Amino acid sequence: MDEPANAAQLPPKLKPMAISEFELIERFFRRPRSCRSDVILGVGDDAALLRVPGGSDLAVAMDTLVAGRHFPDTTPAYDIGYKALAVNLSDLAAMGATPAWATLSLTLPEANESWLRDFAAGFFALADRYQVDLVGGDTTRGPLAVTVQVHGLVERDRALRRDAARPGQKIFVTGTLGDAACALAQIEQHLPVEDALLARLNRPEPRVGFGLALTGVASAAIDISDGLLADLGHILAASACGATLWADRLPGSAALRSQPEATARAWQLGGGDDYELCFTVEPGNAGALSALSEQHHLPVTEIGVIEAAAGLRCVHDDGSNCQAGRRGFEHFGDATTS
Ligand code: ADP
Ligand code: MG
Repeated sequence: MDEPANAAQLPPKLKPMAISEFELIERFFRRPRSCRSDVILGVGDDAALLRVPGGSDLAVAMDTLVAGRHFPDTTPAYDIGYKALAVNLSDLAAMGATPAWATLSLTLPEANESWLRDFAAGFFALADRYQVDLVGGDTTRGPLAVTVQVHGLVERDRALRRDAARPGQKIFVTGTLGDAACALAQIEQHLPVEDALLARLNRPEPRVGFGLALTGVASAAIDISDGLLADLGHILAASACGATLWADRLPGSAALRSQPEATARAWQLGGGDDYELCFTVEPGNAGALSALSEQHHLPVTEIGVIEAAAGLRCVHDDGSNCQAGRRGFEHFGDATTS
């Protein structure tokens, strides 16, 4: 990390960087031992050396969180560290891959030690839970931004891709939708936010185990980061088909259901930051899916059906078109932010 242009004019003890880039990496990001035997070399050399087992495909994903854009400026450092990894693990979950290694590019306005300690605690809390080893990264000075790249392993040719949806398949989602968008709206309006809602925004639970279990049961899959309409739209585009979506059957938490119905539905359809999985299943695999759902204690909800006719039709149970669906698709589907 370079010294700022005006550092030479400041008395040394007022220099914003109290520790060097190398101390920073040593203290906060280089851990005494790896949790994995497939890490030949981790943090500290010019590159990490990782042993990829034969018979596996390597799944690689990267996501950046920019302060003020992907999280409010008031977000605690612990949650930023946690979420930066969680959103990436969610991508691996959507591929049906087992997470293995991560790299971290950190751009910081200053080296604030308590911020770094909390950030690292959040990051490693999740990393340890999934046995993900941080094997390298980069550290620079600038406006706060966090980029994580994750690497996962999936049995050769078994990954869950976006292009595998076919007419007649049922569409499912895990968990509930709309909580994170609800929390964000409340923060932006300076309203008090329920803890459960805030946790959905700041500490999303990547559906890693369930994603793995879906290989062989689901056909296409995606994780919902930009909102259901936008992300299901990606499956439809990649698979060259359309769908009908049942607007009255979207799963919502108790907290969300206490909100006005139309607002809640707009969050469920277009809000984003859910990090649930949306996937398609051949009707013959529906029984296997409900067994998995029970085994993993994770509810799944059937929300629609894949059709040959292009386009996404969002309808109420009485057959009328859902206006929030149409608005949501135009408003959120065309302007994804991540
Ligand atoms: P180089 O100049 O060879 O790119 P760096 O000085 O940038 O190396 O980094 C030194 C070592 O520390 C490398 O192994 C790099 O992967 C690692 N590293 C740098 N920043 C981070 C970080 N934020 N988290 C984890 N590892 C990091
Ligand atoms: Mg470097």
